[in-house]
Amino acid sequence: MDYSYEYLLVRYGELSLKGKNKKNFINRLRENTKKALAGFKKCKVEAGYDRMYIYLNGENPDTVSEVISKVFGISSFSLAMKVPADMDAILEATKQACDLSVPKTFKVRARRHDKMFPVISDQINRQVATAILKNSDWKVDVHHPQVEIIIEVREDAAYIMTDKIAGAGGYPVGIGGRAMVLLSGGIDSPVAGYQVMKRGIHIEAIHFAAPPYTSSNALDKVKKLGSEISAYQGDLVLHVVPFTTLQLAIYHYCPESYAITIMRRMMMRIATELARRRHCLAVATGESVGQVASQTLESMSVISQIACMPILRPLVCMDKIEIIDLSRKIGTYETSILPFEDCCTIFTPKAPATKPHLDKCEEYEAKWDWQTMVEDCVNQAEMIRLSPNMDEVEDEEADLF
Ligand code: ATP
Ligand code: MG
Repeated sequence: MDYSYEYLLVRYGELSLKGKNKKNFINRLRENTKKALAGFKKCKVEAGYDRMYIYLNGENPDTVSEVISKVFGISSFSLAMKVPADMDAILEATKQACDLSVPKTFKVRARRHDKMFPVISDQINRQVATAILKNSDWKVDVHHPQVEIIIEVREDAAYIMTDKIAGAGGYPVGIGGRAMVLLSGGIDSPVAGYQVMKRGIHIEAIHFAAPPYTSSNALDKVKKLGSEISAYQGDLVLHVVPFTTLQLAIYHYCPESYAITIMRRMMMRIATELARRRHCLAVATGESVGQVASQTLESMSVISQIACMPILRPLVCMDKIEIIDLSRKIGTYETSILPFEDCCTIFTPKAPATKPHLDKCEEYEAKWDWQTMVEDCVNQAEMIRLSPNMDEVEDEEADLF
């Protein structure tokens, strides 16, 4: 007899939460899980105080697991088999659930919820362990087992779980408010977006495009990156800002060495204003100290001066190698290294100021009416909704909330 998986048992992350916060955590996690599983019509989600159950009702356990592994707020989950509540079936199914050909250490933890079941928990543990020891090179380790076999005997059936699959960790997206992430086509900013979502913050993204200096391929790449990270929160609103006029003005009015710094200050002005309009409490970037000329503390300082809200820089102290590893893990690396140009790479000056001064920035900015241009950028930004399967829905309305 072959037994199949019946449900996923989901364990919550960050269990230090208590009281009302825990309730918010669980409610949000349940809603996010349902949203992530919208394509799996037969799945049913049930969230309890300590655990969440996802009933498969015939959906494919591997594809559901893949989706669940991207939902923040989950520390781990296990697939559970449903078998008839009798010892022969339990023993047979346990052997099927464990790949006994590879030697491992294990522990059995049985719970008899149905007190009418004739074998007590301790005896179930012993019988299952004996069967495994007899049929394999597996060894018992009660403290740090590689495989924990969990058996729950209920009135309707017995449930058997083996592998603990790592969840995405963090907090459910949405319990921490909203932030606007500056999304370029590079390696860093999608990773920054992921890190911000992981802390439970729902993100929107803003991208500065400079056509015709940047191509539609470059914008498609950003949309693809946006779509890839949208899998961690269900969807993603991307604002595309037409930046060419303002960028050319910067190069016209400012010395080349200050162009990048002033461009960053303009980006920040636009991003914070759009963030305010979209009810975001912070903006986020993929900056990391020392990575390039514009990412010195002096430079970050003059960029930050204009921001009226916190600037989150989740990668600030990470090495590039660590960031690349993470981008591979979250699935954005291959898209990020596609060779399309970004507005920053096209206008890169030969010798950018690594220690820009605030008074100099203000002096150069005083030369033209950038305020109107910034306002135009904000007002002319195009809003696009992205989803993990790259269906793009254009929508100007506030119902995007
Ligand atoms: P990334 O890999 O994210 O492009 P980077 O190492 O290339 O980062 P910069 O080009 O200096 O660094 O950009 C620093 C940050 O500024 C980016 O991480 C991103 O948050 C933001 N940024 C840069 N260019 C753009 C753009 N065209 N649109 C939106 N945000 C941008
Ligand atoms: Mg870049």
